[in-house]
Amino acid sequence: MIEIENVRKSFGTLEVLKGINLSIEKGEVLCLIGGSGSGKSTLLQCINGLQSIQGGNIIVDGTNVHARDTNLNTLRQKLGIVFQQYNAFPHLTALENVALAPRVVKKQSRRDALDLAREHLDYVGLGSKADMKPSGLSGGQQQRLAIARALAMKPAYMLFDEVTSALDPELVGEVLDTLRKLKESGMTMIVVTHDVAFARESGDRVAFFDQGVICELGPARQVINDPKEERTRQFLQRVL
Ligand code: ADP
Ligand code: MG
Repeated sequence: MIEIENVRKSFGTLEVLKGINLSIEKGEVLCLIGGSGSGKSTLLQCINGLQSIQGGNIIVDGTNVHARDTNLNTLRQKLGIVFQQYNAFPHLTALENVALAPRVVKKQSRRDALDLAREHLDYVGLGSKADMKPSGLSGGQQQRLAIARALAMKPAYMLFDEVTSALDPELVGEVLDTLRKLKESGMTMIVVTHDVAFARESGDRVAFFDQGVICELGPARQVINDPKEERTRQFLQRVL
């Protein structure tokens, strides 16, 4: 599981995480919602060690992410992360993109890596696009490719940061379908999203971020349909 204890993070004098406490159970889908600049992306980057922290602890399966002797490369194999912007290697095919990290990082044989890559492309519905370059794929297909690339490392956790925000509306559904499929498979996920309907339907719990603090945390339907905090209420009124 992932335990986040009183985490503080500043950029210079700007404190963007002001004592965050959260724990994510195995198999849980936790959705993070909240206004722009409230610290959601920064928290994800702290969880996989892309950002240092100034206080508190983040523990992933017993490993303290920010301890001096933690091997971040090993840790990151557990934490798949997919961002808003696509990040596939443009000169490689979809299949080669998925096979790359298992080959380089996990030292899998070319044959094994390509076989597994094919399975992961099938899983995200891109089996027929294996030989395409990323530029030949739609935005929704590129996001599914990014998910396949992350899954190829067999992570224990998946972190998603607004993976549908850059997509044309008609392409959002295919990416959310992939997230739902992952949830059904029991994947533990932290999903930063503006899609309140997705958070309500597919989240187990929802955390509402406001200016670096978790203002409200609870069962997804309760937080979205019947928020206890005035700030959550106001935010939901703006976005719903
Ligand atoms: P969210 O994802 O909720 O929109 P972010 O975590 O991206 O919010 O940002 C939180 C705050 O931290 C914002 O004020 C943002 O400008 C600031 N911030 C984020 N990344 C950096 C950075 N690398 N350097 C300086 N300030 C940053
Ligand atoms: Mg963000």
